[in-house]
Amino acid sequence: MGSNHDDLARLASFFGGQEALSVVQALSDAGTTTDDIIAVNANVKLNAARRVLYKLYNHALVTVVRSRDEKTGWFIYHWKLQPDQLDAFVRSRKKKALEKMRTRLEYEKGHSFFMCKGCLTVRVTFEEAMESAFRCSSCNGQLISEDNTRTVQVLEDLSRKLESELQERPAAFHPDKI
Ligand SMILES: [Zn+2]
Repeated sequence: MGSNHDDLARLASFFGGQEALSVVQALSDAGTTTDDIIAVNANVKLNAARRVLYKLYNHALVTVVRSRDEKTGWFIYHWKLQPDQLDAFVRSRKKKALEKMRTRLEYEKGHSFFMCKGCLTVRVTFEEAMESAFRCSSCNGQLISEDNTRTVQVLEDLSRKLESELQERPAAFHPDKI
């Protein structure tokens, strides 16, 4: 478990949620296998399995070899996970997430925020609140100061977690240990 599981979960959410996670797991269990076997083992529809496989293929996370069925004459596709590519992909996604998080953190630390008690979605910076004389643009209610200490704390924790994951040795992705 641990960070490998987080990696897979993150990857799966990028490629289509639970179905993608099941497909990646079925593929990593099987080594090299065909899309219909992956669909059966992952317990997803064949079309869904193929959709995930094509997405993975477009990111070079799987390889595919084509052969011809001697009886039917149809093509058979043999898929294989590329663990090294997967690791590189996860790392690059994490780097991007970390950059975004740092930018957000700077923004949160560099501003004071005001929000409307009535409509909780309205949140503005001090400068913006000044411009509207501390009135909500949506309901005209009064804007009140918001303490974003908790938000900053969460962002700092998440950034630290990502930083330490990125410091781990690159080839840390072992699908067989999930
Ligand atoms: Zn309001």
